[in-house]
Amino acid sequence: MRVPMIAGNWKMNTTADEAVTLVRSMLPELDKIPGVDKVVCPPFISLVSVKEILRGSSVQMGAQNLYYEEKGAYTGEISPLMLTGVCDYVIIGHSERRQYFGETIGIIDKKVPAAVNAKITPIMCVGETLEENEAGKTKEVLMRQFASASDRVYFLSGMVIAYEPIWAIGTGRSASGAQANETIGYIRKLIAHQHGSDIAESARILYGGSVTADNITEIMEQPEIDGALVGGASLKADAFISIVKQTAEIWSAA
Ligand code: PEP
Repeated sequence: MRVPMIAGNWKMNTTADEAVTLVRSMLPELDKIPGVDKVVCPPFISLVSVKEILRGSSVQMGAQNLYYEEKGAYTGEISPLMLTGVCDYVIIGHSERRQYFGETIGIIDKKVPAAVNAKITPIMCVGETLEENEAGKTKEVLMRQFASASDRVYFLSGMVIAYEPIWAIGTGRSASGAQANETIGYIRKLIAHQHGSDIAESARILYGGSVTADNITEIMEQPEIDGALVGGASLKADAFISIVKQTAEIWSAA
């Protein structure tokens, strides 16, 4: 039985003070919700202070990125070693990193093992552009993105996949539950093909793209979907709490 996960990607939002205020405003309610892995991913600058606030609670923390080298002359980068013991998870290959910062499949393929070796669980993002979707190339794109970043060892260490169609991120245009379910089902088949059905059945695959408190029920009612990576709505305490609560209710009723 997979445990659902709701992860909030705060992106480049919140000053250090705002991050503390935001996590304090959601923690008491989030902490009480059972049966869901709850994760917040603040900006790097706030990881340590947010971690202090989360200490002893049931809410975990992720980073939004890392570099794959352990240390050295890489000005401005954050290494896996720096995140070890601070973060439980790290988002890798978010489409905004692919789109604005030139992250290629080759780079992502180095970041995933770097995270796993540092004992930080990757939340690896995959997904197609609107043009690729409209050209019927979604499966082809996913297969390419999966080609090497889906080693058996990564799944055994708990790697989470986030299917995030790029056309749905930050646009207010979520995929329908049925659409997301079909593609996530395909991803599970890919994993089964590569690593066998046991690994595929235990792999957590989230949906991401304009998830809100209004559409989370439709998403979470789908059998293949194990949770959500939430951007904009994770910056509003009420909305994020509601998303987690609804997820817990649907999962416990299933
Ligand atoms: C994301 O940042 O991964 C995301 C899905 O953003 P949003 O929920 O705002 O579309």
